[in-house]
Amino acid sequence: MAVMSEPEAVDGREAAEAAVPVRSASGPHELCVLMKLGEIVLKGSNRRLFERRLHNNIRAAARGLGEIKLTQRGAGVIIVRMPGGSDLEVAELAERMRNVMGVVWVHLVRRVPKDLDTVTATAVAALADRTGTFAVKARRRDKRFPLTSSEIARHVGSAVVAAHGLPVDLKRPANTVAIEVDKDEVFVFTDGIPGQGGLPVGMSGRALVLLSGGIDSPVAAHRMMRRGLKVDYLHFSGMPFTGPESIYKAYSLVRQLDRFQVGSRLFVVPFGKAQQQLKSSGVERLQIVAQRRLMLKTAEALADDLGAEALITGDALGQVSSQTMTNLTALDDAVDLPILRPLIGMDKTEIMDQARRIGTLTISELPDEDCCTLLTPRQVETAAKIPDLRQIEKRLDAEELAEHLVTTAQLHRPSFLGDSAPATV
Ligand code: ATP
Ligand code: MG
Repeated sequence: MAVMSEPEAVDGREAAEAAVPVRSASGPHELCVLMKLGEIVLKGSNRRLFERRLHNNIRAAARGLGEIKLTQRGAGVIIVRMPGGSDLEVAELAERMRNVMGVVWVHLVRRVPKDLDTVTATAVAALADRTGTFAVKARRRDKRFPLTSSEIARHVGSAVVAAHGLPVDLKRPANTVAIEVDKDEVFVFTDGIPGQGGLPVGMSGRALVLLSGGIDSPVAAHRMMRRGLKVDYLHFSGMPFTGPESIYKAYSLVRQLDRFQVGSRLFVVPFGKAQQQLKSSGVERLQIVAQRRLMLKTAEALADDLGAEALITGDALGQVSSQTMTNLTALDDAVDLPILRPLIGMDKTEIMDQARRIGTLTISELPDEDCCTLLTPRQVETAAKIPDLRQIEKRLDAEELAEHLVTTAQLHRPSFLGDSAPATV
């Protein structure tokens, strides 16, 4: 058996759907989670900071599961153990780790002593109920181990053939058993699940997401968390002119997104009266763009209080009439903070696929009365003129209105652990 190459790093977009296989390796040895990291490996002198951030995020994601022990192995591998945890609890731990940004692969592994017979027996047991071809992939992080990687692979491979009679296929094996020799132990495992990839949340600073109840903005939030931003959420409801349904949706969306960043804050601003005010100031075709600008101004005022350095929206170029190039430019003009639009070049179908993968699509598709469908003019301006908008805002004193709206914000802390979880930020 020759050494197989490492699985290619994927961006982990399938991660939210596939289940972590509980069947990793059977045998008497401790089950734990081994994770492969991606870009974090490349970050040179920042590595320490990255690792500290990632370790904190891992601990936060494992909250409530019992005590865990974290070990960093070189730049690219983290081992998470749960001493005394049952296999089921460790499987739950692996499940949670799939959502931690910065992790590229999650493996449920058996941790065994550095003894060739034990390693071989564990690998043989791991393939016990498998059919089809197989390959052994061995690697040594500890080069002092008496056998080379290919010697280990050959030895274990022969034992598998003898025990199960499975045919070897090094190119496209149906089953792979991996053996990783470390300083104090050896890890044996079969399958891996792609993680989210990206950078640890918090590495890139803080931003505020404008979260509607729609499909796009939760996907935008996920994308930016994945690039290391810690986010807070701001939702505008049509209250008092609509029911609270959109707030429930925003709450459920944040609870789902909290899996990727533990300790989320959702601010809800009742926007109905402000929309009414805009309408009676005679904005007509400019209503939508004017109210989006007011949302952005309010978001900027809140971002200032929160120390957020950017705003995030789910805009995609040309998707709706308020998202033409001219209108987006008119939106940028409303605030000084940068507006990040990670979906700008994506098609709706791509965004929907992504929403499905991160588990927000079904929530976004629930019916609600969006604040923006309230008071929507029959005709929407596709080329809003900035001077016209500024003039309307001057009449209204939009800056002051935005400051006032921030004071009406209600804070919620939707947690993926449910409502009983202690709040952390
Ligand atoms: P989404 O699917 O995210 O609702 P959309 O395609 O419906 O987006 P718009 O309604 O024009 O497009 O909204 C564009 C962006 O403006 C949203 O992605 C979101 O970031 C922000 N936004 C719109 N409505 C609200 C709201 N009620 N509260 C907070 N942000 C909002
Ligand atoms: Mg919308």
